[in-house]
Amino acid sequence: MRGLIDRLRGVERDIVQAPEAGSGPYYEPQGSEIAIFEAAWRRRLPVMLKGPTGCGKTRFLEYMAHRLGRPLVSVSCHEDLTSADLVGRFLLDGESTVWQDGPLTRAVKAGAICYLDEIVEARTDSTVIIHPLTDHRRRLPLEKRGLEIEAHEDFLLVISYNPGYQTVLKDLKPSTKQRFVAIDFRYPSAEIEARILQNEVEGLDAELATRLVAIAHKARALKDHGLDEASSTRSLVYAASLIAAGLPPLEAGEAALINPLTDDVELAMALREIVKAHL
Ligand code: ADP
Repeated sequence: MRGLIDRLRGVERDIVQAPEAGSGPYYEPQGSEIAIFEAAWRRRLPVMLKGPTGCGKTRFLEYMAHRLGRPLVSVSCHEDLTSADLVGRFLLDGESTVWQDGPLTRAVKAGAICYLDEIVEARTDSTVIIHPLTDHRRRLPLEKRGLEIEAHEDFLLVISYNPGYQTVLKDLKPSTKQRFVAIDFRYPSAEIEARILQNEVEGLDAELATRLVAIAHKARALKDHGLDEASSTRSLVYAASLIAAGLPPLEAGEAALINPLTDDVELAMALREIVKAHL
């Protein structure tokens, strides 16, 4: 029982509450993603944010939730996540049992935007329960309670999907994918990415931002030569933050742009050459 409660608490921790007042999260638009999302929101169509890790999907949604004035409920999906973790379950309370809503149920009731990050990682039953929420029915079955709830008119379901991660064994079914409006995210253009770095890391000078972005562009070309994941905008923000915190640039590059990306000695050497050439 303790394990069960701890697990539930683990999911609870993922919850982001109502939008803060003020200017909201900083987001640098890359194309027509804001217009597409707003149109989908007006029609309450479920949205899939598609793209590699660390390219701004989560930041975009935080920005959109703030812009639309909706609370955001985020769940990072993982391989042990079941439909009960999303929907809710009966918990023992002394002699009796009490029902506890999961994050999806709370979002459905409250009219929040619910973000299921990397839903493909979760058990298949989690994908199945979202189906009736994604079409005209907009209903969530609570099987254990033998009832179905109707989604609040402002509820919106958003999932993220990283095409690079999927294997034949682990992928969303085409029939699931087609239930979503998909917005394609890529790493930003060099100019935009340098601007992001300067905004995210206080005191970073423009020239260093440009050099870091140039490293990422070269490193991304290695993706077809054995590197599983390319240097993301997030990695660049980390490298810039380490430099701003006083670490020598080459060490910052090693810690943020090389070591997390590969364990392969030759690939690490190739990345190191790129870093050295720019920093
Ligand atoms: P993802 O959800 O795609 O894995 P995130 O949204 O968490 O990636 O982005 C990682 C980091 O990169 C953010 O915390 C932010 O610092 C930065 N970032 C990426 N894209 C943007 C953007 N378009 N505007 C502002 N910051 C961005």
